[in-house]
Amino acid sequence: MKKKKIWNKKNLPLDIAKAENFGMLILALSSGICGILQIYAVSGFVNVALESIHKSLLNRHLLGTLFLLLLTVAMDWLAPRFSGILRQKAELKLVRQYRPRMLKKCASLQYIHVEQADSLDLIERVLKEPEKNWQDIYQAILALLKLFINIIGILIVIAGYVWWAAGVILLFCIPLFTFSVKGGKKNYQTQRDTSCYSRKYWYLDYVLNSRECLNERKIFGYTEKVNKQYADTYQEAFGIETKMQAFWAVKTKLSGGLSAIAALLIVITLIQPTLSGKISIGLFISLVNVVFSLTSQMSWGLSRNIDALVKGNEFCRDMRDFWNLEEEEGILEAPKYMNEIKKIEFKNVSFRYPGTDYLVLEQVSFRLNWGQNYAFVGANGAGKTTIIKLLTGLYKGYQGEIRINGKELRSYSPAEQKGIFSVVYQDFYRHALSFRENCEISDPCHNLSEEEMKKLTRQFDLQQTIENFPEGYDTLLGKIRKGGMDLSGGEWQKMAMLRALLRPAKVRILDEPTASLDPKMESEIYQLFQQMTKDSLTILISHRLGFAKLADQILVFEKGRICEQGDFEKLMEKKGIFYKMYEEQRSWYQ
Ligand code: ADP
Repeated sequence: MKKKKIWNKKNLPLDIAKAENFGMLILALSSGICGILQIYAVSGFVNVALESIHKSLLNRHLLGTLFLLLLTVAMDWLAPRFSGILRQKAELKLVRQYRPRMLKKCASLQYIHVEQADSLDLIERVLKEPEKNWQDIYQAILALLKLFINIIGILIVIAGYVWWAAGVILLFCIPLFTFSVKGGKKNYQTQRDTSCYSRKYWYLDYVLNSRECLNERKIFGYTEKVNKQYADTYQEAFGIETKMQAFWAVKTKLSGGLSAIAALLIVITLIQPTLSGKISIGLFISLVNVVFSLTSQMSWGLSRNIDALVKGNEFCRDMRDFWNLEEEEGILEAPKYMNEIKKIEFKNVSFRYPGTDYLVLEQVSFRLNWGQNYAFVGANGAGKTTIIKLLTGLYKGYQGEIRINGKELRSYSPAEQKGIFSVVYQDFYRHALSFRENCEISDPCHNLSEEEMKKLTRQFDLQQTIENFPEGYDTLLGKIRKGGMDLSGGEWQKMAMLRALLRPAKVRILDEPTASLDPKMESEIYQLFQQMTKDSLTILISHRLGFAKLADQILVFEKGRICEQGDFEKLMEKKGIFYKMYEEQRSWYQ
């Protein structure tokens, strides 16, 4: 049975900006009431003014009615201004308090949601100005409340003179209302439809303009082709939006027409009671004024606010889905480091990625022992990185057992799991932070001493480069800001390895650490690897077999299975798959 998604009140921003929201409510209520008072203020003033003109004598009530009129006009003018200020304050509070809650949720999500296009689209939608969206909903409610007070007030006044005219107004409200509801839904659906396009053209924009892609852009000269793709994607998204705009234009014109007819009908019905003296000239003028302004508000205001509310409803649905995404329990806890890792065992592990129907690992079994270093080798797609994803707890839906120190991996807490491994990913991120900050992020709980940092930079042969930078260890790396200094590919790689070394985890994993390096740098990196292997259990993933020699044991993967295992000499003697692959690559190392 499908699990019903529910709202947890905690996930609504009800506790944030209470005072500001209350202030806006009071302003909306008073400006609604003020709209009614204005009918009498205008009517009173016109009547008194006409009488004064008629009698050529200044009526003593003239000033009083004028004052009342000015008061209602001032209120009408001031309320939206004050409300605007309060809205800004409320949005700021949401940015400070609600957005961090959402980001925390994102950081706690199960890995599967970070990989799936549906959940990625959802996350993108809800994270796009959530504070503005919440406030739009609240403002729409307040505007409708104000409109409702206005309509009810005017209906009561008009019904007092021509009862059926009130019915006519109500009748006209129904099509306007249904039209607006449909429009709102369509509007949000458009946003949904265009969100996958926008993600694509933002990415293409990055490829076209980012510094990271500059070299490839120049060498491959793909700018024109990617530009065309960008334009095509943009055009498709634009087409969907234009359709929506056309619908919106037709809708507003139709509602405008309907409202104008309604206003005319009401005014016509008020003429007779005015001629018979049942309605004063002042009241007639005031009502005509109010009816026209109200009907225009109904065509614009009602439509816009119901639209916003329906759109808001869709946003709430997205928000609820977002808050209902499964979290990884304890994922934000600080890592708990273990004192020793005696062994890691895979026992008949099989795995398929969620949403796929083929096994990427099939009955994989091996044992890794403390103090040894291992190389996982094999062609691309053989399943080496998948093993690391399982080991580091990114996917839990495997069959078989993964045991660490004899205990199943899934029964360790997330904090313990995090504390076991330190990984240098092949696509490690080049953080545009200072060298010091780049080191510190490897373990936020660890206070990195100056000495420790300098010792490691010396060890990694980075000391001279860093100390030559204008602000030494505090120089910003990368070129995203003025004054930033860039590192070479190999130096970034060393930085990533150094970061991994700073983490006191016992098992160190290097995933294709030299894929983008020249042979000299590659050899340097492997020497560093040897240093890293002291006092730990190290796994090196590589399809460069020359360096697999450094490992105590080599595990050869093919199509999701281990096909050979042993030390370098043994595998070469065996003259099997490893031997063949090595012979093919031999020339690289001569
Ligand atoms: P290797 O590291 O040996 O190059 P991987 O472990 O990355 O290989 O990939 C093994 C297989 O799993 C490949 O066929 C790859 O296409 C597939 N694969 C990897 N990641 C995913 C994913 N997130 N979803 C579906 N299939 C995947």
